[in-house]
Amino acid sequence: MSTLSENLTAIYAVQQIDTRIQRAKRLQSTLDNGTEAAAQSETAREKAASKRTVQHRVSGELKDNELKLETVEIKRKSYQQKLYQGTITNVKELSNIEKEIEALGRQISDLDGRILELMEQAESAQAELTEAEAEAKIAEGHWTNTVAAFRSRYEELTLELTDLTRQRVSAAAGIGDQVLLKRYDDTRAKAGGVGIGRLDGNACGGCHMTLPSTLVKAVKESVQVQTCDNCGRLMLP
Ligand SMILES: [Zn+2]
Repeated sequence: MSTLSENLTAIYAVQQIDTRIQRAKRLQSTLDNGTEAAAQSETAREKAASKRTVQHRVSGELKDNELKLETVEIKRKSYQQKLYQGTITNVKELSNIEKEIEALGRQISDLDGRILELMEQAESAQAELTEAEAEAKIAEGHWTNTVAAFRSRYEELTLELTDLTRQRVSAAAGIGDQVLLKRYDDTRAKAGGVGIGRLDGNACGGCHMTLPSTLVKAVKESVQVQTCDNCGRLMLP
């Protein structure tokens, strides 16, 4: 037969394990599982994809204009050759060719201007793409690291919880007064996970309220189970 004092001390030991279990569970539930990092990585990837689209469009347009310029230059050259070969004697035809050369010259000048513009655009589009890709890579790395850290810490806490649960079962089984243990469990469920408080001077160790001196005396005597008037927790001297 164990005494009340022994039972309370044993229950207090169970409470220490229960507190550690509660803490480990809370830690496990608040771990960063990488959801936010995944969203950030997705955003960065989308941004890089949109920068890639712009870069492709601009460099495609640049290439088109360069080809167009080449074609127009060839055309102008062939007209110029016709002109200098001296085989055309018809005045109207000569004048038409001169006009054509002039028109092609304006086209070439327009294309030159457009190409210069596109070259600048292509350069900045490439720079923005490079930056966005680097950012996406960093964001993805952060996500991967966060998930890896989460898994490792989650596993650690699972092992800790398995061990603590085993300790809890064994400590609870060793308590002589199982009715008192049940009372402790019920109180714990109602009082935020703490079912027993050690006397702290004249105060309850659970809620820190100062207790009446008669109650303090009764707790110290340990003849009967005493509970805190304020929080209802079992009291341990
Ligand atoms: Zn209390």
